[in-house]
Amino acid sequence: MQDAISAIGFLYQSYKTVKDIIDQTSNLELKQKIVDMGIQILDLKESIHGYRNKIDILEEEIKRIKYLSEKELEFKNGAYFSKDEDSAICPNCWDNNRQYTRMRYDSIEQDRFRFPNCRYMTD
Ligand SMILES: [Zn+2]
Repeated sequence: MQDAISAIGFLYQSYKTVKDIIDQTSNLELKQKIVDMGIQILDLKESIHGYRNKIDILEEEIKRIKYLSEKELEFKNGAYFSKDEDSAICPNCWDNNRQYTRMRYDSIEQDRFRFPNCRYMTD
């Protein structure tokens, strides 16, 4: 991905050099082509940055899933627990979205867990 970002940076610098030369000519067709090329390069640059962001998000998700599998979650009393922590992890968020949401400590009833993210409450 870094190669693609470097390549697009180089391509854009080259484009500007060529555009400066073409701007000095009177060939309107060539001027329009270079303008179109610049737009395409900027669209490509934006796409690459979008992919970079998506990769960052996915890498974070992979880290979190690895973390959870290393924690060896155990399901008990209607929620997940890791062996390293004493706070419950929301089964609704985890099962449906792989979100790691801890229990709110001011749960309203004893022996029930309430989760702030989705308002899920254990039976
Ligand atoms: Zn939840």
